[in-house]
Amino acid sequence: MDLRTLCLLVAALGLTALVACNTPQPTTVEPTPGPPPSSPTSQAAPPDHGSQAATPASTPLHAPSIQAALGEGFPPAGEKFSLSEDEWKERLPPATFHVLREKGTERAGTGDLLKNKARGIYTCSGCGAPLFSSEHKFESGTGWPSFTQPIQDRRVASEADTSYGMIRTEVLCERCGGHLGHVFDDGPEPTGMRYCINAASLDFVEVISP
Ligand SMILES: [Zn+2]
Repeated sequence: MDLRTLCLLVAALGLTALVACNTPQPTTVEPTPGPPPSSPTSQAAPPDHGSQAATPASTPLHAPSIQAALGEGFPPAGEKFSLSEDEWKERLPPATFHVLREKGTERAGTGDLLKNKARGIYTCSGCGAPLFSSEHKFESGTGWPSFTQPIQDRRVASEADTSYGMIRTEVLCERCGGHLGHVFDDGPEPTGMRYCINAASLDFVEVISP
């Protein structure tokens, strides 16, 4: 009889110990300077972390043609845009930062826009400048989005690239200087050029006929 009450006592003690362990300890959060730690409900912060300024969810544009859609609020050709590398790092997702600012190359076949067949404008994922048109996109079989030409003159800059023991022509966004990919002269007609572009350096704005 005595043993039983002892067991019950131990069990009860164990239980209270367990409950004590699982109970949140508000005292560890209390010592914050400033406003008084009032009601516990004030801790519930709203989930407003959608601060992905570099890649806004683009809504489709309504225009009779892609060239006409270029007049719909895109940054004008010839305009420059610059940020410090720290600001770029803050603004861009890591994979995009690596491609645009560190001249990285995404793995072939992994780009989200590789298979995109919609009609529209490919913009720079760093600064939003229009770079390529869906009218010039073709399936190159390389695993990277490929185009026969930029959407307009003065949108894409090029530079000699001798890294990795190769002689290539690097392609950059004229507006922000972001690395896009490379251009080769083995493309299809009518230009014979192949702009081999990292999907990470591109965003897409669909253009729908009105
Ligand atoms: Zn750019």
